[in-house]
Amino acid sequence: MFVVSAPSGAGKTTLCHQLIATVEGLRHSVSYTTRQPREGEVHGRDYHFVDEVTFRAMLDRNEFVEWASVYGKLYGTPRQALEATLREGVDVLLEIDVQGAEQVRRLYQQGVFIYILPPSLDVLQTRLHLRGRDSADEIERRLSQVKEEVKSWQAYDYVVRNDDVKQALRELEAIVLAERIRVKRIDARWMDEFVSDTQTEAADSVTSAARRRTRS
Ligand code: 5GP
Repeated sequence: MFVVSAPSGAGKTTLCHQLIATVEGLRHSVSYTTRQPREGEVHGRDYHFVDEVTFRAMLDRNEFVEWASVYGKLYGTPRQALEATLREGVDVLLEIDVQGAEQVRRLYQQGVFIYILPPSLDVLQTRLHLRGRDSADEIERRLSQVKEEVKSWQAYDYVVRNDDVKQALRELEAIVLAERIRVKRIDARWMDEFVSDTQTEAADSVTSAARRRTRS
């Protein structure tokens, strides 16, 4: 499980979409939220957009792995979909805020936690304005929270600074690929089979070499 957090406007969503497009076997977890869809966002693809009553009912039924109130709206990761994906042997990418990441860290110690930083707060402010998705008040509110939020970077395993999208994407790909081959993630049964297959192949090639020698 890969958990990615970032201040709003750091370019996290773009990077995560590109990462999923370039790395095989990685699926996005689609969160539930009570915020309104933005232009171009699709229900069920970007988020499951629900009202607060629906969200709270799901919360009461313990249907979220984690949830948080972010900028006054509720967000949560659905448990069933996440666990089904992991059971399939597919890696999951969670794009969630720092409060959610903290909850996930307690539940899934094997998770990989990545924090994406914007180049600077000035650049972040400019990006949020240029994006034109949020009102000036909303941008100010987000920026003041960013200063607080960035302090939690030390709880993550990796920090990727998004100065340059191509470089940041390369770093994210490197993290995913390297994490997949860590010794602690390798299934011991698979390694045992590998070793016994290798021994059988070696024995077979010794036997056929001996046969070749006998024939000649
Ligand atoms: P946005 O409304 O801009 O899409 O997201 C606002 C913030 O909510 C972002 O930091 C995003 O990562 C976070 N977020 C999105 N989905 C979830 C979720 O399921 N759980 C938590 N804790 N945060 C989420």
